[in-house]
Amino acid sequence: MAQRKSTGRSSLSKRAGRFADRFRVSDPRRFRLTQVDPADTWRLRSKEQAAGLLQEGVERLTELQEMLYAKDQWSLLLVFQAMDAAGKDSTIKHVMSGVNPQGCQVHSFKQPSSEDLDHDFLWRTTSRLPERGRIGIFNRSYYEEVLVVRVHPEVLMRQKLPSGLIGKDLWKERFRSINEHERHLASNGTIVRKFFLHVSKQEQLKRFQERLDRPEKHWKFALGDVRERAHWDQYMSAYEDAIRSTSTEHAPWYVVPADHKWFTRLVVAAAVVDALEDLKLEWPKVDSAKRKELATAREVLAGEG
Ligand code: ATP
Ligand code: MG
Repeated sequence: MAQRKSTGRSSLSKRAGRFADRFRVSDPRRFRLTQVDPADTWRLRSKEQAAGLLQEGVERLTELQEMLYAKDQWSLLLVFQAMDAAGKDSTIKHVMSGVNPQGCQVHSFKQPSSEDLDHDFLWRTTSRLPERGRIGIFNRSYYEEVLVVRVHPEVLMRQKLPSGLIGKDLWKERFRSINEHERHLASNGTIVRKFFLHVSKQEQLKRFQERLDRPEKHWKFALGDVRERAHWDQYMSAYEDAIRSTSTEHAPWYVVPADHKWFTRLVVAAAVVDALEDLKLEWPKVDSAKRKELATAREVLAGEG
């Protein structure tokens, strides 16, 4: 019978961990968004140079995801937040390209429905959390509740909160709810990793212009996205506050440079590999009863031949 490759922590994975750490917010109180250059590519100069590394990362991720699934105890939640055109969709597509679709669940969160608004702000995402053994991806998430809702007070007004609860501590309370929620997830076997794809305002402009110039990208174009540019600074300060307030040991934020898509993918792949390596996953052990069953199966099949 073919044996699986060894699954010890490879030097690739160790490197992935060190590389991803550069973009992990480990000292939230000192964190400032200006510390991360959206155009950063570390020491890498080109997409071609990064291609081999990304391929290695995706292959390792494929193997780790199979073990996660076989083990059926942990789950991994990946949260993606960004301004429009920062590359959330394509990052998810590339990083997860080797992952068995059965072991992965992607959910996009848009404007909430009236049913969503009739519940607390963590309700709609909670029922979409990944099952044990799975990787769950949130393309936008409950973090919108401290981002778009903060930038647009009229959105908050539609949330039907009792007026007495809308005060100066509202955002602090939401951060607290989020931190408690993520702590709860961690202590029940869900690993949480959060990614802010940090694109510059200039690069966003360029990508919007490309969408206008290329007919196959027109479907991606929304006038509303362009209007949101007027609130750029407010979004940046909302992101900064959210990242500072909710980066924790068990649910860290990664602030990922997003002006070069090939680099964004590499950082996210490295961080996901690192998160799974930390679990020290192994193939489930086969006990003696199972070994006997396999031997019997072998005999039965041999009898057919
Ligand atoms: P893409 O543009 O790549 O297709 P997207 O995630 O931007 O993907 P859109 O349909 O363009 O999807 O936008 C979704 C919108 O829903 C965003 O503007 C986002 O801010 C908004 N949204 C998400 N969650 C909430 C929320 N809880 N309250 C209000 N608005 C929200
Ligand atoms: Mg959009």
